Amino acid sequence: MAPRPEPDETAATEQSVSPESREWRGILVVVEQHDGEARPVSWQLLGQARRMAEKLGCEVMALVMGHGVEPVARLAIAYGADVVYLANHPALATYRTQPYSEAVLHVIRHFRPEIVLVGATYTGRDLAGAIATRIPTGLTADCTMLDVEPPPSRLLLASRPAFSEKLMATILCKRHRPQMATARPGVFEALEPDPGRTGRIQPVEVVLDESRIAARVVEIARSHDRVRLEEARVIVAGGRGLGGPQGFRLLRELADALGGEVGASRPAVEAGWIDHAHQVGQTGHTVRPRLYIACGISGAVQHLVGMSGAETVVAVNRDPDAPIMAAADVAIVGDLYEVVPALIEEARRRRG
Ligand code: FAD
Repeated sequence: MAPRPEPDETAATEQSVSPESREWRGILVVVEQHDGEARPVSWQLLGQARRMAEKLGCEVMALVMGHGVEPVARLAIAYGADVVYLANHPALATYRTQPYSEAVLHVIRHFRPEIVLVGATYTGRDLAGAIATRIPTGLTADCTMLDVEPPPSRLLLASRPAFSEKLMATILCKRHRPQMATARPGVFEALEPDPGRTGRIQPVEVVLDESRIAARVVEIARSHDRVRLEEARVIVAGGRGLGGPQGFRLLRELADALGGEVGASRPAVEAGWIDHAHQVGQTGHTVRPRLYIACGISGAVQHLVGMSGAETVVAVNRDPDAPIMAAADVAIVGDLYEVVPALIEEARRRRG
């Protein structure tokens, strides 16, 4: 697609538009990458964008920003993009709000996607908020469901928990374009990457003047204990049944033996046994590991909603009738303080 002519900014962004207007078409996913490695949420959003694009009959676009990130652009095609806009510039080498939002705004103004999706990560939340302050349109943050109404309305149905998580609200942006949303990692399933998929990579020229960028990256200090539950392939989670914080030391041993992370239910977090960064569920993280081991967790719906995307669920519980046992692929009835040490021993034995 050739770039559409530079619109009169006021006309294109400050007036309400008819959703049927052919001016705005396609779903744009802003791909988040750090050091050339894309965050999985970007591929998950591309998967959902593909599903929604089928209903709208439109293209899926991806925007890759960085310096020397062509391989990420090629991956975006494998994960479902029809066209990838590649903003390649030294000023984009590390994330900074100002140049990154300039690049996204450039693409929005030139190519006019009707929907823009950004991962609800620390970076994505910052970026989406900054963009939303520059164009007069709505932003629905932290969505847990995304869908579209088919033409002619073409509306994005952006759903997220509201009123202290007591109900789900579906938020519409009827009169302004693009319709923007951030979505939580782990909620949507990425497509199986297909290296044979074809698509276009279109370089975009963003004018960025380093001397006019307010922030400079002086040093990047990485936190070693940063929890990345959404990206974990194995999660060993504990609940009230642990009886105290010491239980999490045991779960950490099992997680380490399996190369995984530690998760928790809300009561365990509220009791102060573990940090909120580990919480799984409606008010915590949504996870999609290959293996989820729930220890001393009853399986309340608010917990299940956060881990139902797990490939295999193992539950360890004293109560055979706990709801988690029905949701599990393998249900182990017993005291977790007897079962978990046996699992650790077996995992270590297999690792050799
Ligand atoms: P319990 O329900 O008390 O279950 C403890 C389990 O441990 C029991 O099944 C028991 O049989 C078992 N057990 C006890 N001792 C042992 C032992 N020695 N060995 C083996 N098993 C043992 N919850 C979340 O987890 N995440 C959320 O994000 C979340 N958000 C919420 C949002 C709202 C608006 C509300 C109202 C609630 C939310 N909750 C959330 C809370 C949720 O409703 C449940 O209260 C919570 O998930 C229960 O946690 P639990 O399973 O650890 O505790």
